[in-house]
Amino acid sequence: MKTKPIKNKIMVLTTFIFAFLTLFFNLYLYYTKTKEQEHDYLEKEKNIQNSISHIQEHLAYTVSSRLETITKLDYFEDFKQDLANDTFEHRTRHLDKLRFNYENIKKQVPHIETLHIIDPRGYSYIRLHDTNLYKDKIADLRSSILHSIKEPKNRHFYEYGIFGLKYRVSHPIFAGEQFVGLLEVGIDPAYLSDFIQKLTSFESFVLIKEKDSKKYVTKTPLDPSLLAQLQDTASDTVKYDDKTLLKYVHTLYDIQGNPSLQVVTVEDVTHSQRSFLNFFLLSILTSIILMFLLLWVLDRFFTKILLRIDELLYLINHTQDFIIAIDAATKKIKFANAPTYSILGLNKKELKSFDVTNILLPAPEDAKNSVPLFERSSKALTKRALLACTKEHHIPLEMSINYIPKDGGYFVVIAKNISEQLELELQKKVNERMINKYIPMSHTDLNGVITYVNEAFCNLTGYSKEELLGHNHSMLKSPKTPASLYKKMWDTILADKTFRTELRVLTKEKEEIWVKILIEPRYDISGKKTGYISTREDVTDKQKLRFISEHDQLTKAFNRRSFESKLEQMLEDALKHNKTFGVVMFDIDHFKKVNDTYGHQAGDDVLVKVSRIARETLREEDFFARWGGEEFMLLLKNTKVEELILVVKKIQEHFDTADFTPVPRITSSFGITLYKLEDTKESILKRVDEALYRAKELGRDRYEIG
Ligand code: GH3
Ligand code: MG
Ligand code: MG
Repeated sequence: MKTKPIKNKIMVLTTFIFAFLTLFFNLYLYYTKTKEQEHDYLEKEKNIQNSISHIQEHLAYTVSSRLETITKLDYFEDFKQDLANDTFEHRTRHLDKLRFNYENIKKQVPHIETLHIIDPRGYSYIRLHDTNLYKDKIADLRSSILHSIKEPKNRHFYEYGIFGLKYRVSHPIFAGEQFVGLLEVGIDPAYLSDFIQKLTSFESFVLIKEKDSKKYVTKTPLDPSLLAQLQDTASDTVKYDDKTLLKYVHTLYDIQGNPSLQVVTVEDVTHSQRSFLNFFLLSILTSIILMFLLLWVLDRFFTKILLRIDELLYLINHTQDFIIAIDAATKKIKFANAPTYSILGLNKKELKSFDVTNILLPAPEDAKNSVPLFERSSKALTKRALLACTKEHHIPLEMSINYIPKDGGYFVVIAKNISEQLELELQKKVNERMINKYIPMSHTDLNGVITYVNEAFCNLTGYSKEELLGHNHSMLKSPKTPASLYKKMWDTILADKTFRTELRVLTKEKEEIWVKILIEPRYDISGKKTGYISTREDVTDKQKLRFISEHDQLTKAFNRRSFESKLEQMLEDALKHNKTFGVVMFDIDHFKKVNDTYGHQAGDDVLVKVSRIARETLREEDFFARWGGEEFMLLLKNTKVEELILVVKKIQEHFDTADFTPVPRITSSFGITLYKLEDTKESILKRVDEALYRAKELGRDRYEIG
């Protein structure tokens, strides 16, 4: 296949484009998914951040209001005096009073671990969480105390203390207008984890940095690998327990601005990651399957199309016609099929860009009238032209010229070599002229009404075309033609067969002529019978000659030769078809005397009259001939002796009653015989002759049977 390389090129290109598009699509898919995840991540991170802030604020507010309630208790009224008289009794009294409040607030906020009263100098007064430890200057250890003493107000912050890092909520205590100390609560930072879980449903870990170290620990021990991964800043995810966890890390700072706490919230993304991976792989797999499907479809499609193109090219190059595409503006050849360049003896390349006016010349009559060869017509034009193969050798063409108003306009010419056609046309013209002149021809419809006649037909019949057209053929009938012949003719042509015969017709001058006629059915293009066509030939002269050769000149009866051949034919028929026939011979009695008495002319008249009487007495199918002189012969088909006798008696009777003036009476003697099996011409003639002889012997004017 010539077109195979093109097919392969197209298929490779299409597959490449498809693969590229698929890759691009998958990358785009991956990109959007990643973008989405990133956005999601940031959104969630922000939410968690907000939650943390909210939780801290909320807790600070809640705890602060509780502390305020405590500071409003009346026993703090005399706390001022008690501070000055720092005795064990006073302290114990306060401790007893506050213990209930401490237990109560712990119940309300379970993560509270410390409750501390600090005096205005910065010394620890009471630690509800460790009652044995007091009077130490806590302000030296924790900078927040100094701030709160200097500027007493509600505060909350993270700060390391003797018992580690705590979320601290401090509230100043006033006795009247006087600042008398601080009430401070310490909360385990792990509270955040519980709250976040409640708010976001994500699990959270609170990592606390050990003071003066870089190490983070959790309050309850964690699996070391999990802890290490939670702290790993290089990775966003944690692989633990067959799960993939996405980390959201929030660092919280202590009151001095040092990072001291990390809240790591984790989201289980095992499922969504796997499902995206699955989706991604499935998409690639689908792409590959689609690609193979595409390849298969393309292969089938192109194979089919290219096969058609090959077939088309084959047809174009193997047709007898010349197919040429010509640029409308420049008249240069854009395309030509194989027959064109082979007849011009040029190759494909040479013919391309060849000026077509060098090879296509207008037909002589168009050239004379300056009719252009190419016209930009919307209809296909048919024109004759000459193809100049060489300077001397021109081929006549019949061209169908189609103008295509595309690509700047071009002509598509389909041309046929019409040399043979022109020759045939010429021959046809000559033939038509000859037929018109010399072969009488007529057409009729199915009813025999004349629809066409040619010149020769008019000459033969003496009628003009106008006198014949529209009339029935029967206008030419001769009354002598038996009706049976016409019946036979109609039977034959109605059976769509050819009818041939010779018959008599009448001319316009009522002259009888013999014509040899041939009638055939006539059909239209679709094969439907539309009428009949007939040719005729004037055979009058031939018929005259034949009559002369077969008949006796005087009596016009059949002559001896006709009789003999008829007898031979009947003998053959009788043998073949097991038939019989009779022969009668008669001789006029004493005819010599007629001649002698009345003259030879009178004798001739008698002979003519006798012939006529005999003929008229016989049936049409019977055969009558003059044997010679005044002797005659009869041949009668399918007969018996009795019938023969009857015929003879009838003839005798007619002779008797006939008028032979000037001869008063004419009689005749008859010999009769019937055909016998194995008869020959000689045997039958001998028998009938003997019978006639016997009739003469026995007195004449009688018959004898042989
Ligand atoms: P028979 O009763 O025995 O037959 O006597 P016949 O006189 O008829 O017999 P014959 O054979 O002696 O005579 C026949 C005559 O017929 C002789 C001949 O002149 C005459 N004849 C033969 N042909 C013609 C003819 O064409 N025209 C005329 N007018 N006479 C003819
Ligand atoms: Mg005689
Ligand atoms: Mg005789």
